[in-house]
Amino acid sequence: MSAPKRPSSAAKYANLVIGLVLAAMLIIIGSQSFTQGLSGILLGVASYLAAGALIYLSVMNYYRISYYSSHIPEKTFTVLRCPTCGYQVTREFAVGDYVGKQAEACPKDGTPMLIVRIYVLPAQTQ
Ligand SMILES: [Zn+2]
Repeated sequence: MSAPKRPSSAAKYANLVIGLVLAAMLIIIGSQSFTQGLSGILLGVASYLAAGALIYLSVMNYYRISYYSSHIPEKTFTVLRCPTCGYQVTREFAVGDYVGKQAEACPKDGTPMLIVRIYVLPAQTQ
């Protein structure tokens, strides 16, 4: 129906796996360059450092996404608009709200207002 608003667990797991596979490739490349003299050893060490940074970033990213998708409280809002005069008001979402539903009467002319939008924001930005 609609795009998921949070990264799926499959997506964050794929990111972690891609990071670890790239790190493993760097370690393999680094191991092979150790046999090629001083510059090979430097290249090997650089590859190991890059692999370590990649593993670190992948794991941190994995936990960061987990944190954001499970711990930040959200608040849902409902936007109402009067079809007669165009008066628009935002209030907190109430159970049973859906886009297109007739809701409270317009305070200006008494016409039942229509729900035109429902959205979610992190609670911290309020
Ligand atoms: Zn109105």
